[in-house]
Amino acid sequence: MMKCSIFNPLASKPDRIIMLLAIIFFSILCVVISCYFFITSNKNGLSFKSGENTLLVIAHPDDESMFFAPTILHCTSIKGHRLALLCLSIGDYYGKGEERKEELLTACNVLGISSESVVLINDKDLPDNPNGVWSSKIIGRHIVRALSQYDIHRLITFDERGVSGHSNHIDIHKAVKALVANGALSGKEVLYLQTVNVVMKYLSFLSAVLMSNQRCACISSVNRWCLAMTALGKHSSQMNWYRELYKVFSTYLIINIFSLKRH
Ligand SMILES: [Zn+2]
Repeated sequence: MMKCSIFNPLASKPDRIIMLLAIIFFSILCVVISCYFFITSNKNGLSFKSGENTLLVIAHPDDESMFFAPTILHCTSIKGHRLALLCLSIGDYYGKGEERKEELLTACNVLGISSESVVLINDKDLPDNPNGVWSSKIIGRHIVRALSQYDIHRLITFDERGVSGHSNHIDIHKAVKALVANGALSGKEVLYLQTVNVVMKYLSFLSAVLMSNQRCACISSVNRWCLAMTALGKHSSQMNWYRELYKVFSTYLIINIFSLKRH
């Protein structure tokens, strides 16, 4: 039987085009994966140290796994570095808040955050609602309490576009800016997770390679990427076909890029 090959002069034209495209695709894939392994073994732009305490502020249970997993796994891998998580709502928009509380603790366990380092707020003035407005004053009060509870050196949260554009994320950013303005974060580092455009958001490893030259980049190894996917999967009340695709293709599960401010 005649084999179909790009080098076979008897192969039909469509067969040769398909073979050529397949070779190009796998070559690009090999280059991307090789670059990725080179980068993850050589670069981490975050200079977190042992003895420091970091506070991650999020709006909903699952934000930690969906957006911040590379940074969380970096923090929790540093011996003597404490990462505390402040989640400002139980995520009750669809009435699943009680379920989501448990899911958050389970996901945090996968990511290496102990339950003593998780503060989950259930405040009627901070309802999970994409159309709602969260008061900077109320958010600020919860953040200031957590800063003192865990003796925090560094705060991490969303940038002005809220990563997914959710208004609760954006309101946290505004509240942190207000704290910066009134001096409540004096002497602390603040890192804002940069929102990437929709194309880069789903290019996964390719985005990691393309964005790895950024100064404050935190890139996960394959092992940590697998842990991030496992943690996201623990939010089972939120899983659907879109989340399954997100788990595999999202750039945020592999790389976090920050803008850093020292106050
Ligand atoms: Zn959220």
